[in-house]
Amino acid sequence: MKPTLINPVYVCRACEWVYDDEDEAAECCMPGIDERYRCPICSSLSCSEAAAIACCAFDPEAPPPPPSAVELERAGQLRLIE
Ligand SMILES: [Zn+2]
Ligand SMILES: [Zn+2]
Repeated sequence: MKPTLINPVYVCRACEWVYDDEDEAAECCMPGIDERYRCPICSSLSCSEAAAIACCAFDPEAPPPPPSAVELERAGQLRLIE
């Protein structure tokens, strides 16, 4: 098996709920499931890993982007809760 950069997700064909786990998706409404790949940048779903990578020109070799303002805020809130 080749290493994947993006883990596939599975979408129930009936209710379009997105599952990380193929078995859970298969047990949802049971008309079948579609495999999708989530763009690591904008989280939109694509039919293939290549399309998901191409979506926002995700570069798997690049260092992780600096945390966004929202993420920093979230981290700050977590610290307050703890
Ligand atoms: Zn369903
Ligand atoms: Zn995208």
